[in-house]
Amino acid sequence: MGDLEQKIIAMDLWHLALPVVSARDHGIGRVEGSCEIVVLRLVAEGGAEGFGEASPWAVFTGTPEASYAALDRYLRPLVIGRRVGDRVAIMDEAARAVAHCTEAKAALDSALLDLAGRISNLPVWALLGGKCRDTIPLSCSIANPDFDADIALMERLRADGVGLIKLKTGFRDHAFDIMRLELIARDFPEFRVRVDYNQGLEIDEAVPRVLDVAQFQPDFIEQPVRAHHFELMARLRGLTDVPLLADESVYGPEDMVRAAHEGICDGVSIKIMKSGGLTRAQTVARIAAAHGLMAYGGDMFEAGLAHLAGTHMIAATPEITLGCEFYQASYFLNEDILETPFRVEAGQVIVPDGPGLGARADPEKLEHYAVRRSG
Ligand SMILES: [Mg+2]
Repeated sequence: MGDLEQKIIAMDLWHLALPVVSARDHGIGRVEGSCEIVVLRLVAEGGAEGFGEASPWAVFTGTPEASYAALDRYLRPLVIGRRVGDRVAIMDEAARAVAHCTEAKAALDSALLDLAGRISNLPVWALLGGKCRDTIPLSCSIANPDFDADIALMERLRADGVGLIKLKTGFRDHAFDIMRLELIARDFPEFRVRVDYNQGLEIDEAVPRVLDVAQFQPDFIEQPVRAHHFELMARLRGLTDVPLLADESVYGPEDMVRAAHEGICDGVSIKIMKSGGLTRAQTVARIAAAHGLMAYGGDMFEAGLAHLAGTHMIAATPEITLGCEFYQASYFLNEDILETPFRVEAGQVIVPDGPGLGARADPEKLEHYAVRRSG
């Protein structure tokens, strides 16, 4: 075992703009051109490094500028000079030091775990309690405003052995959603289909549209209405046998408790970028399971570092049974930032067994895509 008593002596940050291969439309907004993330590197006095990634989205969780400032100004003083083994204390202080900014806290938690894992020669999943699975089924989202391009993507996914897709709905008209569901049912019957509105439905249109879509019997229908519409979510849940998932309505354990008590969902999309860390994400899953609710491993517009952090979290969380959506490194970014590729084989994400997160960010790519950096 290495020495977790050693101090953290440096924190470096990169705000990156990563070019993407296509536009993607979600109910709450569009991503095109590039997605922006913040990468964090911690260095311990023995020279070991730990990486984390904050993957915000302005219309959903927050901005890259806020993630960067939270880390650079408000969380840095909690980290420099502290022992590597002080993760739980540092994260507790981080929760109090700056409100919201859950992506920055997820990045910090990832980097602390990666660093401790590198030093103790253990994978992050071992530091989170051990692993319950070696692979995680991958779901890829179908969200291109150019549906012909998505048909080509689905052909590629089928050839790659991916068995799950999530159709993003509610960003154009209802007929477009139904047309796509009909085509997928006819031409791609191999796929299990999930539907995600990303809050895209207005109050007056939610009931008929959700009932229409439910006739296609997707695995679940995710977040049809605005995050704060808890009562409407509960009503929609009662109208259909298709499971209703909460995503934007549930960030951390506190929201999960409220969602369970108010009966707004049959399951929840769990993301380290919403919960503010890997341990808090595990807590969300455990609260959900204790209330008889399902859990899915969601993500934001992430690169490989955040995918890895989520993979280790899910590997150590048996309550997350619906697979994951860590597809961006393979199917959305022009180029990922990892030194060795994020592993997806035959439609399954491979849980790494190496120390820490199991792969590192490539320093040359960090410099190449940086729009701002500090150390
Ligand atoms: Mg979602």
